[in-house]
Formats: sequence, C-alpha cells, structure tokens
Amino acid sequence: RAKAEGRGTYRVFSRAMRAHAEQRGRLATALAAAVSRGTIDVALQPQFTIGGRALTGFEALARWRHEGRPVSPADFIPIAEENGLIADLGSQVLDKALDAIGGLRRKGFSTGTLAVNIASAQIRHAGFAAMLQAAVHRHGLTPADVEIELTENILLDEAGDEIACTLKTLRAAGFSIALDDFGTGYASLSHLGRFPIDRIKIDRGFVSRMCGGQDTCTIVRAIIGLAHALGMTVVAEGIETPEQLAQLQAFGCDFGQGYLFSQPLAQDEVAARLRSGSVP
Ligand code: C2E
Ligand code: MG
Ligand code: MG
Ligand code: MG
Repeated sequence: RAKAEGRGTYRVFSRAMRAHAEQRGRLATALAAAVSRGTIDVALQPQFTIGGRALTGFEALARWRHEGRPVSPADFIPIAEENGLIADLGSQVLDKALDAIGGLRRKGFSTGTLAVNIASAQIRHAGFAAMLQAAVHRHGLTPADVEIELTENILLDEAGDEIACTLKTLRAAGFSIALDDFGTGYASLSHLGRFPIDRIKIDRGFVSRMCGGQDTCTIVRAIIGLAHALGMTVVAEGIETPEQLAQLQAFGCDFGQGYLFSQPLAQDEVAARLRSGSVP
C-alpha cells in the first residue's frame, strides 16, 4: 500500500520502520543490562472478593525504569521474550515478589495469595517446577501461597503435552493455576478441560465494554457460568467503576482487581497500606 502511494512514501515508511527497529534494539540492550544488574522491579496489585471487598492476594507485575521513565510491560515483556531475557527477568520478578510477601508475612500481615505471570519460555523450561518450588521455600512460603498466571495462547504451544504435564506437577505440589486475559487469545474451550486450571481471569477489555453493550454483558455472564460449572473461580481484571463492580457482582463474579480498588503498588506502599488497613 505504501508503494501505491509513490516512491517517496515508501522511503519514509521504510525509514520509520528502521527507526523503530533501532529503537527496539537499543531497548533490548538496555533491558539486558537492567536484568543482569538486577534492577527490574516489582509492583503488587491487590485482589479482592467482589462481594465483600476483602483482600485475597496480590498480582506481581514487572516494572522497569529506563532513562528516568517507566517503560510499559506491554512493550518490554515482548522484547524480553524475543531476546531470550524473559527467564531471567521472570525469576527476578518472582524472587522480589516472594521476598516482599514473605517479609510481610513475617511481620504478621495476612497477604493472601501471590499471583505471578509466567511466560511461555519459562513454563517450557525443564527445570521450571523445581526452580519455582525452591524459590517459594527459600522465602518461607508454601506452594499454596502462589498462583501461576498463564495466558491462553501458551496452551496452544506445540509443547502443549509437556506444559500440561508441568501444570499437573505444579498443581499436585499445591500451586494454583489461573488463565490470564481470558477471551482475548485463540485457545478453544476444549483447552479448559485439557489443562488443570483453577481460575479464569476475565480480560479487562470485556470489563471496560460491559456497561456499553448487552452483548458484552452476555459474554461476561457466560464466562462466569462456564467457569463455575467447571469448578473454577473467576477474577475480573481492570475494574475501574462502581457500575462495573455492581454488574460483576450481579453476575456472580468471585474476585476482582482494578483501579477502583487499587493501582499496582510499590513494595513500601503495600506495607503502609496493610498497616493503615486501607487496603481496600
Ligand atoms: P496482566 O497480567 O493481564 O496484568 C494486568 C494489567 O492490567 C497490568 O498492566 C495492570 O497494571 C493493569 N491494570 C490493572 N488494573 C487496571 C485498571 O483498572 N485499568 C487499567 N486500564 N489497567 C489496569 P501492566 O503492569 O502494564 O502489565 C501488562 C502485562 O504485561 C500484564 O498483563 C502481563 O501480561 C505482562 N507482565 C507484567 N509483568 C510480567 C512478568 O513479570 N512476567 C510476564 N511474563 N509478564 C508480565
Ligand atoms: Mg496477569
Ligand atoms: Mg490479564
Ligand atoms: Mg492483560
């Protein structure tokens, strides 16, 4: 299409593409340095019961500041995956999150479950289950304290059988497993039966569109009904308004997460909020 608009356009287009590729290359180099220095940080976003607004746990989210500014995980996680950095980045996030939660527990706070996002390359790694168990015990926690979040596209991986096997091992050890961003990927419903899944996380795209349309409400209600019928619980992501919360409660959704309750928090903020009792 750029070609049809004339040679000049084509040249501008390819220059923009090259600039983009160079920018990504520079980010990849900087990210590799940050990972090896151990400066990837973790934010913790509280999760609550929809009905009672009781704290049930935290999701660990990677944070990276580059040249003084935060880079979005939506940008740097794919770069980490493409450049072979995701395993190291992921274990750093895991370690810092376990350290934070373990520390809070030792101070007497009840923190609930820690949810961690695990990328395809991590779960496929042969030593993953053993590494995870060792990390959890090292921080004085047990597998029951930790939930693994996987996006549904991981289930489509050509290594599906091995992944199912790893998940069964993890679950037998006491970890729980959540399917993240449900409804946005390409997995079919049959995957829900093939993999051991405890919780479904409804993507925030559905939550944000819910109040605008009957169809979205029907889909959300159907996801909740399906999950419950399969013996799974449901977490809604990205709850921003009281209207969304009321809808989700009416639909029987179990848990929620979003700016209405709390933004992702830095580690010291978590302690301060738990201390003041202002979570939620
Ligand atoms: P996710 O796992 O679905 O995480 C939820 C995202 O929604 C987070 O974005 C969170 O900050 C954001 N969020 C939470 N509540 C609200 C809300 O009310 N409104 C809006 N608009 N957004 C909300 P974040 O931190 O930018 O992370 C984006 C994605 O990057 C995550 O989506 C996850 O897929 C990935 N990611 C983050 N940290 C890690 C990590 O340590 N490892 C891996 N593999 N992926 C990660
Ligand atoms: Mg997640
Ligand atoms: Mg999600
Ligand atoms: Mg997401």
